[in-house]
Amino acid sequence: MDASWETSGIYMLICRVNGKRYIGQSKNIKRRLNAHRRGKSSSPIICNAIAKYGWDAFDKTVLEFCPVEELDEKEIQYIAELKPEYNLTEGGDSPKGYKHSPETKELLKQLAKKQWASEEYLKLIRKPIICIDTGKIFDSVKSAAASVGVDPSAISAVLNGRVKTAGGYRWAYLNPDDKVSEETSKNKGKASRGKKQSAETVEKRVAHLRGKSNSNFNSYKPVVCVETNEIFDSVNNAAESVGVTPGSLSNVLHGRKKTAGGYHWKFAKEVFYMTENEVYDLLVKTGAIMTGHFKLSGGDHSAHYIEKFRVLEKPLHTARLCRAIAQHFKDAQIETVVGPATGGIILAHETGKLLGTRAIFTERVDGVMTFRRDFTLHEGERVLIVEDIVTTGGSVREVIDVVKQFGGVPVAVAMLVDRSGGKVDFGDVPSFALLHMDVETYKPEDCPLCKKGVPLTKRGSTGKK
Ligand SMILES: [Zn+2]
Repeated sequence: MDASWETSGIYMLICRVNGKRYIGQSKNIKRRLNAHRRGKSSSPIICNAIAKYGWDAFDKTVLEFCPVEELDEKEIQYIAELKPEYNLTEGGDSPKGYKHSPETKELLKQLAKKQWASEEYLKLIRKPIICIDTGKIFDSVKSAAASVGVDPSAISAVLNGRVKTAGGYRWAYLNPDDKVSEETSKNKGKASRGKKQSAETVEKRVAHLRGKSNSNFNSYKPVVCVETNEIFDSVNNAAESVGVTPGSLSNVLHGRKKTAGGYHWKFAKEVFYMTENEVYDLLVKTGAIMTGHFKLSGGDHSAHYIEKFRVLEKPLHTARLCRAIAQHFKDAQIETVVGPATGGIILAHETGKLLGTRAIFTERVDGVMTFRRDFTLHEGERVLIVEDIVTTGGSVREVIDVVKQFGGVPVAVAMLVDRSGGKVDFGDVPSFALLHMDVETYKPEDCPLCKKGVPLTKRGSTGKK
């Protein structure tokens, strides 16, 4: 699951065993899915199905992200169009913590009875769309999307103000009442819906929409506060949180200013993804990767030394690295992140936080890697293994074995640095590294730095390696 699922929208569960589907809405999809997984807060039918087949037997998808005020209508729309079996066997079961309006309940009941959506119901929930640039009217988001060959979600994104155009055009609801905005939320009448529009009314609406400047639309670009790691879904929201104007925050995002509201800001995209060079630079900057002339604990000499705790001791930098890992595994349906003590505890915690999973660690008892502290895995639990610096991969292989012993499935290994030069191999478990290095080591007698007379670099005891 993606961190971006921590928002409102419509989701669908599909049982891989019998193909039956369930559609639900939530103000926070991720939280709702986790509730489903725990067997809580859901309608009894899907709850029983999950108990029967197991959480892993269900594919999870987001049908659409949408504002809270649109959840009801969207849910009905999707139920009407997709006729999900688990919803219709006994419709109208609203998940706990959410109350359907009486009209919505009635609609769901009707849908349940009929087992399919009649045109009548579709009409009630369908909202005509107008292409602002061409003036063409479509009876639904779907048909508007089809007309320009884009996904319906692209049109929805424009309607919700997340992006400016879809398929090269601007779009709006034909009836202003269909969009709950500041200007219409006060008079939320449904009077105009479904009514035929006169030519003049349409003309007026188009003129109104065209007259509105694009400045009303904020493109959907999540923003991260570098210091707090807090993610905001728009520049506006971020600016509001610290009481500055969106313009001044925008200046920081585009490098024209250092801070806004006392904080550094970045587009989320820039901090979710890291190139190998960025990882390398960060590790050098924090002092984790040192250059000089080092005597390694095994006796060999090297021009490089990596002290992972120079970066792990800085939570914000560690968080940034873990975000890049989490981003890579966001769709891997990880249930638990496991790392070997000590560095792995920190990485597992941070990565698990971002993936919305559990985070546990292995440690050695009499030299043997195992779980202590009553950590357990359920049969088939999908585990991501994280480790900081991997040279030979010995510890990681031991963690893989522990995960298997406890019934888990090692989905992948994620490393900050693979310094084996790509030689490390975990058998059937795929691996991912933020940075690949091939650090050469020399026997003292063959060391080119010794030959040049370069003195050994002094460094503090690391207590390891
Ligand atoms: Zn040397």
